[in-house]
Amino acid sequence: MKNSSASEDFVAYAAHELRSPLTIIRGFAEVLHDHANLSPEMVHDISEKILRTSLRLEKIVKGLLVLADNDFVSEPIKLSVLVENCRNMALQLHPEAEITIQSEAINISGDADLLELAVGNLLENGIKYSPKPAKICVSVSREGTKINIAVKDEGIGIAKEHLAQIFDRFYAVNKVHSRRLGGAGLGLSLVNAIIKKHGGSVSVSSECGKGSIFTIELPSID
Ligand code: ADP
Repeated sequence: MKNSSASEDFVAYAAHELRSPLTIIRGFAEVLHDHANLSPEMVHDISEKILRTSLRLEKIVKGLLVLADNDFVSEPIKLSVLVENCRNMALQLHPEAEITIQSEAINISGDADLLELAVGNLLENGIKYSPKPAKICVSVSREGTKINIAVKDEGIGIAKEHLAQIFDRFYAVNKVHSRRLGGAGLGLSLVNAIIKKHGGSVSVSSECGKGSIFTIELPSID
């Protein structure tokens, strides 16, 4: 692989993150354009989805700019609300997925848009690398002075020899499979960068054919 510059990396990050909301907006816009006889309820429903996804796009752009800028907002975040937002976003793209949330009432301090981007990426991967309908469990818990956000799937799992590299930029276990699912091997390196900015870490435990658990560990504020 050629060595890419920081700005090339950033362009690749941006393209990766912008792709799924753009696909949703385009799909719904095409429905509106191609079907003249939609009921007012359907038009309302579809335009609402376009609006909601545009707002998500705006958040992602902000997150990417913050990453590029090395800038960082620190605000109080209710983690139960954050994971619920991520669930709703993932369901827009994968309505068949079964996503359960187990969340203690925990507040942290950080950049909500960036953390949503990170948890959302783990959730989307869990769905992408599972047979349909994906079964995902997101849990938020406190362990001593640390906060854990774990995303557990029952999907294809990751073989031991790949585990050390999956957080590297452009690393994909199966490039063809990954590309077919719209991936570029960038999601996890973005997650890693965001969590590092928050003074935390991401780890994975996985078994082939059984599934994976990605755990974000963040410092608690109390
Ligand atoms: P991609 O865009 O290819 O999904 P990521 O950086 O998000 O890139 O992930 C890197 C690689 O790690 C993926 O190509 C995939 O092989 C593997 N991977 C990530 N998450 C999971 C998961 N939940 N289950 C199985 N494999 C995964």
